[in-house]
Amino acid sequence: MKEWDIPYDELKLFDVIGTGRFGTVYRGSWHGAVAVKVLHVQDLGDETGVLDSFKHEASAADGSARVNVATFRKTRHENLVLFMGACMKPPKLAIITSMVKGCTLYSLLHHRRDKFNPNKSVLVAQQISQGMGYLHARGIIHKDLKTKNIFLENGKVVITDFGLFSVTKLCFGNNLRGDSLGIPAGWLCYLAPELVRALRPHASVQLPFSKASDVYAFGTVWYELLCGEWPFRGQPAEAVIWQVGRGIKQSLANLQASRDTKDILMLCWSYKPSDRPDFAHLLSTLEKLPRKRLARSPSHPVHLSRSAES
Ligand code: ADP
Ligand code: MG
Repeated sequence: MKEWDIPYDELKLFDVIGTGRFGTVYRGSWHGAVAVKVLHVQDLGDETGVLDSFKHEASAADGSARVNVATFRKTRHENLVLFMGACMKPPKLAIITSMVKGCTLYSLLHHRRDKFNPNKSVLVAQQISQGMGYLHARGIIHKDLKTKNIFLENGKVVITDFGLFSVTKLCFGNNLRGDSLGIPAGWLCYLAPELVRALRPHASVQLPFSKASDVYAFGTVWYELLCGEWPFRGQPAEAVIWQVGRGIKQSLANLQASRDTKDILMLCWSYKPSDRPDFAHLLSTLEKLPRKRLARSPSHPVHLSRSAES
């Protein structure tokens, strides 16, 4: 038994928080409040090799270490969710992380329709870049960076679900079944052109995720932070696939933002993966963006600043 193995019967599961593509997340308890993601597991059959690679550090054919549970436990960063352990007795496969208390950027931007001022957007983007830079330095590709996987907890960014996409072979419901290509809403606009071009209507397809494809997804998150919408809003999936696959980007003509701010978007969305910056570069670019001095801090009660002005 590994130090990160958690016996399923030690876990208490309470209500369902939500269901995503790969599993159902429960509010749980294990030495305090935790989030338990129970993976939807297909009949494992001959796939136990997949389970093995999920558990252990397996070397891929190209010599790069494949990311799995053994790798998650090595992640220690302020802006990453705390990985506490996993249950790995089929058919019960679950990943246990600390419970994040805040809201996702997705719900803040798309449901509550909060408007982030430019300074706040920059602070959030910097923290995402820090967490992502750390993951990449550890050789971990997120593969599913999106505002639904980024929480804001008292102003602190917490990124979740890194590296989990690799276990999708174990799971039902990855929506790439049969001969039609089912695409979950809001997923497409995070996919870099090289991923979009590799989409096939079969579950077995291996998408060419890379650090650069994470940077492309970050570009989309940056766009959402700036305008509270997804790129290609309201367009059918076919139109988005065609445009992204051809290297056509969302127009920024109507976006009220500085040149430097838009340059970050354009660089992250570069067609060629090698033209995209890395997170260290993004972080230093974000730090150099001129900060707007707010006439009045939003947390500052209006009547106080009025009286200070008068
Ligand atoms: P998705 O990321 O597509 O929303 P998930 O399966 O990852 O799907 O998450 C399902 C639900 O559980 C979401 O509402 C998500 O915000 C919530 N959730 C996931 N992980 C945590 C966590 N560590 N703490 C609190 N809530 C979480
Ligand atoms: Mg998630």
